[in-house]
Amino acid sequence: MTNKEKNFPNFFQKYKLMRKIMVIRNNSDVPSDIKNQEEKSPHERFRDSKSLSVTDFSSLAWCELQQHYFFIAGGRKETLAMKIGSEIHNKLELQEHDIISIPTHTKEDIWGIKLYNLIFGIDSLFINLKTRELPIFGFVSGLFVFGIIDQIEMKPVFDDISRDELIISDTKTRTKQYIPKYVPPSVKFQLMLYKKLFDELVQGTFDEMKIFQTLDLNPDLEFSKELANIVNISYKEKEMKEFKPNLRNLMKVVINSFGKVWKSCNILEVNYKFQKDGSDLGSKYFDYDENQLDNYLEKTVKYWKGDRKPEGVPIEDAWKCQNCEFADNCEWRLNKIKEREQNKRALLEIT
Ligand code: SF4
Repeated sequence: MTNKEKNFPNFFQKYKLMRKIMVIRNNSDVPSDIKNQEEKSPHERFRDSKSLSVTDFSSLAWCELQQHYFFIAGGRKETLAMKIGSEIHNKLELQEHDIISIPTHTKEDIWGIKLYNLIFGIDSLFINLKTRELPIFGFVSGLFVFGIIDQIEMKPVFDDISRDELIISDTKTRTKQYIPKYVPPSVKFQLMLYKKLFDELVQGTFDEMKIFQTLDLNPDLEFSKELANIVNISYKEKEMKEFKPNLRNLMKVVINSFGKVWKSCNILEVNYKFQKDGSDLGSKYFDYDENQLDNYLEKTVKYWKGDRKPEGVPIEDAWKCQNCEFADNCEWRLNKIKEREQNKRALLEIT
């Protein structure tokens, strides 16, 4: 063990859940059995009215209806490409730190690990100028959103801290050995939402009690033994003598950690790796467009809240239907074909 490791006993370790807890719903949570699935909003139906992920928003950019069908089917099946992609992600993360599994017994333990890893990630950013798999969260129009940023890197500009660059980046794997011409909208929205959530945490504008209430978490419940030990070693001495290992105190450390970050992310990067051997293919950069993101979020929030139905692709994007596994039964597509036939007939009648 190096001196650095001795001084920071857990600094080189990150924690992941070893086993998932079984959440027992209390009776008041059980939706009225009369309310059928179709009447519920997608947020109630697919996410139990709790946490949404960043990709729950960004994945709607390709075709909302296709994503809706995937939600009904219980998610996408893991393809070989997805498996290889997540292996490459794991490899990249292990280059930065170890990952240790610890058991969890309550949902407070699960969120405790997420907060712990978030604090760990911000510390890494300051010490190593880079952090990977950084948990992030916030609210979008009252909906709680959680995500994991692939990487944030700090590039100091000599002698001028105000010009330091904070690069937020996402790694994508490709079967083709070259980078694409354009960054797809879903990837842009994914990264822009990460930046928005990160910047809001830096500004410290979030309401932690609202988070605990939304997720139905008891902020004062002490973590189970294994996690409590880790949290105590890390923070009891440093933060406060009467530090109790629970979500309320860990959240205070999160707020302190973000208080040390002095600027928002100013560069958005998509880094491409070749799927065959994980080699680097290069990166594409794009600007943060607040208006574009706000309009997109306003539209997708309406879907999640059930204020409107999911839409299929517009006619100019009909090529997307060619490889869609729901094409044969997609009502949107069948209606568009019917409309087109009717228009053709009407045209023939006129001429
Ligand atoms: Fe969307 Fe086309 Fe698939 Fe329908 S067939 S879900 S419109 S991509």
